[in-house]
Amino acid sequence: MSHYDFFQNRECEYFPCHPGANPESFSCIFCYCPLYALGANCGGNFQYTKEGIKDCTNCLRPHRRENYEAVTKALRQVMELAKKKPEQAENP
Ligand code: SF4
Repeated sequence: MSHYDFFQNRECEYFPCHPGANPESFSCIFCYCPLYALGANCGGNFQYTKEGIKDCTNCLRPHRRENYEAVTKALRQVMELAKKKPEQAENP
C-alpha cells in the first residue's frame, strides 16, 4: 500500500463532507474534485440542479482510495482542456 494516495483532515469542520460517507475510509486528497471541469464526462455520480449547476453531493468517486489512479489518469483530460489552442499560439 502506498502513502501518497490517501489523506484525511479530520480537523475540517465539514469532515466527511458527503452524506453517508464512511469517515474511516474517506479520503480528502481530492478535496474540490479536479475532474469537475470535465462536466458530464467526469465519470462521477453527479446531477444537475434546475439552474444547470453540477451538483456532486452524492459522489464519492474522488474520496475512495482505490480510485486514486483512475482520478489521476482522468486528469489528462483536464490538462487537454487547459492546453494552449492553435488560435492562442501568439499569446504568451
Ligand atoms: S465529485 Fe464526482 S461527480 Fe463531481 S466532478 Fe468529481 S467525479 Fe465528477
